[in-house]
Amino acid sequence: PPSVHARNLPAAAGNADGTLTPAQLKELLKASSNKTRICQRCHKLQHQNVQSKRHYPDADKLLADVRINKDGMVVCVVDVVDFPASLVRNLSQLVGIEKPVLLVANKTDLLPERVQRAALITRLKRDATRFGIVNLHDVILTSAANGVGLFELCEQVAPFQAAGHNIYLVGCTNVGKSALIRGLRELAGMDVKAGPVTSIMPGTTVGMVEIPWDLSRLVEKNEDILDVAEPEDGASVEPASKQAEEKKIQPGSLYDTPGLFSNNQITHLLNHTELAIAIPSKQIRPVAHELRDAHTVFVGGLFRIDVESTEQPFNFTFYTGAQLPIHVCRTDRADGLYAKHRGMNTQFMLPPIGPERAAEFPALELWRAIPVEGAIDLCFGGLGWVYVTGQGTLHVSTPAGAPVLLQREPP
Ligand code: GDP
Repeated sequence: PPSVHARNLPAAAGNADGTLTPAQLKELLKASSNKTRICQRCHKLQHQNVQSKRHYPDADKLLADVRINKDGMVVCVVDVVDFPASLVRNLSQLVGIEKPVLLVANKTDLLPERVQRAALITRLKRDATRFGIVNLHDVILTSAANGVGLFELCEQVAPFQAAGHNIYLVGCTNVGKSALIRGLRELAGMDVKAGPVTSIMPGTTVGMVEIPWDLSRLVEKNEDILDVAEPEDGASVEPASKQAEEKKIQPGSLYDTPGLFSNNQITHLLNHTELAIAIPSKQIRPVAHELRDAHTVFVGGLFRIDVESTEQPFNFTFYTGAQLPIHVCRTDRADGLYAKHRGMNTQFMLPPIGPERAAEFPALELWRAIPVEGAIDLCFGGLGWVYVTGQGTLHVSTPAGAPVLLQREPP
C-alpha cells in the first residue's frame, strides 16, 4: 500500500550533510519509537535483526539482465573510503567477461588530504584486477557530492553510448550510484527531480531501470566529448559521433542496476538512524590513539579491538566519520562497559541505537587474533578504516564475528 517510506521518516531531517547533533539524535530516537505507518520492506530494513532474518539477493541473479546483453560498457561504482569491501568480486564473470569495465571510485570528497590521488589510482587498478575485473577500461575518481569527475565520466562513456552500446551502472549498495546518476543527468541539463531516489538506506533501487539520459546538449557545448582517445601509434581515429551519424546508429541507453550486497559491508546491519551517525559524511579527519598492552578500543558498539603488545604501544589512526564514537578502556573493564553502555544514551557505544536495537543486534564476537609486525589496516565495511602500527597481537571482534577486510598498506 502507499505508505511512508523509511527514507521519508524524520531521520532524513538531519543536517543537509547527513550529520546529526545530539539533540537531533534524541528527537530521532523519540520519533522512531512513535507508531508511524511504513511499508513492510522499509519496516524490515529499519527494525529487524537484519543479519539473521534478511535475505540478500545473489549478485549473479541481480546482474543476469546485464549478462544476457551481448555488448555494452559496465560502469562499476565503488565507495573509495570502503574499498575494496565495496567492490563486487568477480564482476567480469557476473556481467559478461568481454564487457569493458570503467571503475568509478566515488565519495572522494571524504578522503583525507594526505591520501595521494596517483597512488590511489594505482591501487584501485591493482585491486580491480586482483578481484576479478578482466577488461578494465580505466579508473576515475568522482564525488557525486561536489561534482568532481562527472565530466570525465561523461567523456569516458559518451563515445560508447554514441556508438550504440548500452551503459550499465553497477555497484554495491550505498556507494552513491543514484547520486551519481543525478549528477550525470544534471550535467546533461536534465530535470533531476524525476531521477532515481538517493537514500542512505541500502537497497533502494529495485530491478534494472533505464535512465533517460540525453547527452545532446552536453555534446553541443563540448563536441570533442565524443572523440575516442588517439592510439599511441599516432594513427588518427574517426570520432564515434561521426561514425554513428554515417551508419545511423541509435545511441545506447543508460541502465541503473540493483545495489549488490557485499559480505564485507557492515552497513547492512544498520537502520536509517544508525547509518546517519555511522557513515562518514564530511572529509575524514584522521584521529590517532595510542594503545598500550591490555587495552581495548571500541568503534561505536560495532567493533572491538583488544591489544596485546610485546614492546611499544600500538598506534591506531582511525579514518572514520566524526560522529562514530571511538572509546579506549582497559581490557579487563571492556566486557562490563560493553554490557552497560552499548546502545545507551551515554552515547559512547553507538550504534546500535537504543536498548531495543542493542538487544536484537548481533553481539560482538571474536573474529580473529591478528599477529602484527609493522603496519596493517582494517576496513570497517562502509564506515571507514583504521591504520595500525606496532608489534604484537590484535584481537578483533565484530558483530557475530563477521569478517573484516585486511590490507597491508593504507589506501
Ligand atoms: P546507492 O545505494 O549506491 O544508490 O547510493 P546513494 O546514491 O543512495 O547514496 C548513498 C549515501 O551516500 C547517501 O547518503 C548519499 O548522500 C551519500 N553519497 C553519495 N555520493 C556521495 C559522495 O560523492 N560523497 C559523499 N560524501 N556522500 C555521497
